Amino acid sequence: MKENLKEHIDEILKSCIHCGMCLPACPTYQVTGNEGYSPRGRIYTIANQDTLINQKQIFDYLDTCLSCSACETVCPSAVQYQNIIDYARYDLKLSRKNKGLWAFVRKYIFANFLTDRSKLTKLKNLLANFDWLSNIAGLVFPKIKLLNKLKPNLKAPYKSIDIGRRFRSTASVNKSKTVALMLGCVMDTFYNQVHHDSIKLLNACGYDVLIPNLDCCGALACHSGEFDLGLKQRHDFVAKAKALKIPLVVNSAGCGAFLKEQNDIEVLDIIELISDPIYDIWHHLPKQDLQIVYHPACHLNHKQGLSSKYLQLLERFFKVDTSSLNADTCCGSAGIYNILEPDMAFKIGEKKAMELSVFESCIVASANPGCINQLQAHLGSAYEVVHPISLLANLL
Ligand code: SF4
Ligand code: SF4
Repeated sequence: MKENLKEHIDEILKSCIHCGMCLPACPTYQVTGNEGYSPRGRIYTIANQDTLINQKQIFDYLDTCLSCSACETVCPSAVQYQNIIDYARYDLKLSRKNKGLWAFVRKYIFANFLTDRSKLTKLKNLLANFDWLSNIAGLVFPKIKLLNKLKPNLKAPYKSIDIGRRFRSTASVNKSKTVALMLGCVMDTFYNQVHHDSIKLLNACGYDVLIPNLDCCGALACHSGEFDLGLKQRHDFVAKAKALKIPLVVNSAGCGAFLKEQNDIEVLDIIELISDPIYDIWHHLPKQDLQIVYHPACHLNHKQGLSSKYLQLLERFFKVDTSSLNADTCCGSAGIYNILEPDMAFKIGEKKAMELSVFESCIVASANPGCINQLQAHLGSAYEVVHPISLLANLL
């Protein structure tokens, strides 16, 4: 299996014509100006890893890729860059992360915490109530210090949603259509209100909503070099999702993009269900006197092509300013990249916050939990970063 994969990756590597059109689109190239931190530079590094001497530099070039896919969108040769970088990180020749204490902790976190919402919630509560814990953790693992800057609103009320519960719609459209809402791990633990808002909107559009018993989809592990674990998580997830025999709805851009890649289960981002103009819930609602800025999550924008659907629906009810925003650029969150690669994530987050701060609006909408967290951390408490679904649900 690994040999076949290697041949496949070699074919993709050959499809790069070295034109360099991807360089200006790459957030890590934008903040460093160094070609090694660009898509073309990383492709060169992967293709020539055996002859390059500075292993530490190789690791750094590859580890700092955000997997944002901005390069894929602009590439005239349709290079499947994501496949290359995922494989390269997995390849043992390039990974020093399977050694040492940090590697052990990292593997444990991916295998246990991210697949278990209750453990993640306990960790969140611990961090919320005992600030000193993250300080001590920071002494042992310096990278964790960054958690203090990136902490989401840990004390936000959490209203748990029972697994197996069905929320029935009383709307007259779409009668008898049932969808399963994926709770996920990070979204449910840190931004659980988005799920309540999603249920409200889906019910208003006539969908019954079932809460399925599903764990982590494996996206975080796969994109972070824990390929074996990520694929196992994905396999288990897909088997359970298929058994439901109803469409799966997601409100997290990263999970949606990852689950749609193989086309083996019916997965829809929530905007694909609720944005249809046939739903009369939208017709009678007046436009609000509220200015917002919309930041498209990379995995909606570059992977699913759905950011314009969010923008169109938001523009019907809010004053949305997008002028002068470099909207296609990643905010530096990229799953848990801002914890694993805090220095580069910080530079990219500061640049994005500067771009956003020229707008009058203090409300920023973004449809991914990682983006909400990163943008809030860099914009500060004068701003409110929310999921577009929450803005829309508040209209009802
Ligand atoms: S745009 Fe595509 S073909 Fe051109 S250098 Fe970048 S990856 Fe290679
Ligand atoms: S995925 Fe994003 S960060 Fe990585 S090389 Fe492409 S544009 Fe740059």
